[in-house]
Amino acid sequence: MKQNDDELEDVLQPMAWHGVDFTSTSGNQRYGTCPWCGKPKFYANRKTGLWDCKVCGVNGNVSQFLERMFDEVYRPGYTDASRRAFAEHYKLPLEALQDVDLGYGDRGYVFPIRDPKDRIVNLRTKALGKNTLGTKGIGGADLGLWCADDVKATELSVHHFLCEGETDALAVRGKLRRLKKPGAVWSVPGATSFDEAWAERFRGCAVHVLFDNDEGGVRGDGYLHRRLHGVAKELTFLSWSDDEEMQGWDVRDYLTRGKAWSRLVSWFSSEPRSHSDDTDELADLRPEPFDAFVDRLADTTRPPDLITDLVPGQGITLVHSQPRTHKTWVMLEFAVAITSGTDAFGSPKHTVPTAKRVWYLTEEDPPTEIRDRLTALLAGRNDE
Ligand SMILES: [Zn+2]
Repeated sequence: MKQNDDELEDVLQPMAWHGVDFTSTSGNQRYGTCPWCGKPKFYANRKTGLWDCKVCGVNGNVSQFLERMFDEVYRPGYTDASRRAFAEHYKLPLEALQDVDLGYGDRGYVFPIRDPKDRIVNLRTKALGKNTLGTKGIGGADLGLWCADDVKATELSVHHFLCEGETDALAVRGKLRRLKKPGAVWSVPGATSFDEAWAERFRGCAVHVLFDNDEGGVRGDGYLHRRLHGVAKELTFLSWSDDEEMQGWDVRDYLTRGKAWSRLVSWFSSEPRSHSDDTDELADLRPEPFDAFVDRLADTTRPPDLITDLVPGQGITLVHSQPRTHKTWVMLEFAVAITSGTDAFGSPKHTVPTAKRVWYLTEEDPPTEIRDRLTALLAGRNDE
């Protein structure tokens, strides 16, 4: 029976993404075509992801599958031709793409995401001109930090450069190599996608954040400041010049226009362009303590009606009826009554306890029409 990806267990997703066609199920196993021998005898456990090929005899866990794909398929696929194509497309120097932790395969360029023990936990892919894509990796993570350089070879004293995306990271890497400056270059998947767990990688290191000259980059600075301040030994942020020309640029835009690295470095600042503290958007996502939730439900007081027995003081009130039955007039009457604090429809049953400001939004009537209607409604209220 053909299985589509929605039904495939998370643990098997990385194998399917990298070419295993799980066509059949047998008990707690799925099987498909082996990526190495091409025979339809590749079995994988639906719970553990442990796999083996009954023909060529290779086997392992999910991480070992990714390692093997990278070492035996993608890394050899990353040839001079694919290196040149990437460099040309993104206007990068070839040095940027030499001795880099990168592969190439059916889905394009392959970026291995490694855990702190250097095991591959995900392989993200990118076609030229397209965004980087991937499926859930090991442990369900679909994003990760990519380091262009061999992290094992880097030492604590080395400078770490954090960029927004792989092409920015490669542009910085090309420049550093051309200038023969040491440093490990990393790609962060998004300015505000930096998992707290990743911070430990940078404990005691010198870290430089080179995010975009745009609103997202500014927010990202605050985000990384919160995660890395006090963890990194040295932490700086690229505080862009306010030069009009550079609005919206990323570091690749800057470097591919032949602008000087030394000038960029002169804009490094220990102050992030924005600060975010515990009152930011994340605070809203924290679960409410259970006791507070119970207290809130126990409170049965209701706010007074906006218009007595007509418009409640909480929730949403929707006026509905057949077309041409004066719904718009009714809404305007509500608005006038509430702003002026006068009875709605001249009825003492529909008093307004407290006058309030009203924001009237209309997507169809011209302002002159609304003005005439409001004038008519106010005329009925004596001296207003
Ligand atoms: Zn096989």
